[in-house]
Amino acid sequence: MPDDSPPMGARRPPCPICAKAGAEAWWPFCSKRCADIDLGRWFSGRYAIPGEPAEVPAASEPDESDF
Ligand SMILES: [Zn+2]
Repeated sequence: MPDDSPPMGARRPPCPICAKAGAEAWWPFCSKRCADIDLGRWFSGRYAIPGEPAEVPAASEPDESDF
């Protein structure tokens, strides 16, 4: 976890894309870049809940028999 916690007075939710503090101009995003990323997700038709990966990578399960 990066230790750049937001200031105590910050009420705005963090940027749903990069979790940085949102900017008023691009709220709820922090910048045009993140706003464009979110827009691109909508267009690509695979928009997911912020923080959740759109596609879960097939993780190889640990071989318990080899434990
Ligand atoms: Zn951002």
